[in-house]
Amino acid sequence: MMKKSHGPAFRRELKPLMECGTCRGTGVVSGVFHQLDCTACYASGWVCQVTGDALPLEELVTQLNMKLRNMAAELNRARHGQGGAQDQYEQNNRRGAGSTNYTGD
Ligand SMILES: [Zn+2]
Repeated sequence: MMKKSHGPAFRRELKPLMECGTCRGTGVVSGVFHQLDCTACYASGWVCQVTGDALPLEELVTQLNMKLRNMAAELNRARHGQGGAQDQYEQNNRRGAGSTNYTGD
């Protein structure tokens, strides 16, 4: 398994993240008197889906930013661009109907 922890040439790409199993994505664990930062995920609630480990902090920030931006864009599309999903649906439908070459007796 490759472990690249630093290097200026490192490319920023979105990595698959999953909810931290230790804190179940909340970023905190219950201590005796109060909640403590989850150390398994640096209190982010997310860990790398591939390794199951927390990402290095400086990378975690970037990953969370990308994730948040993607989600915000998705939310925006869902709110305003319902035509987009509709178009795709109709395209698939058309392709399906056309491929059967239905002439209607
Ligand atoms: Zn955690």
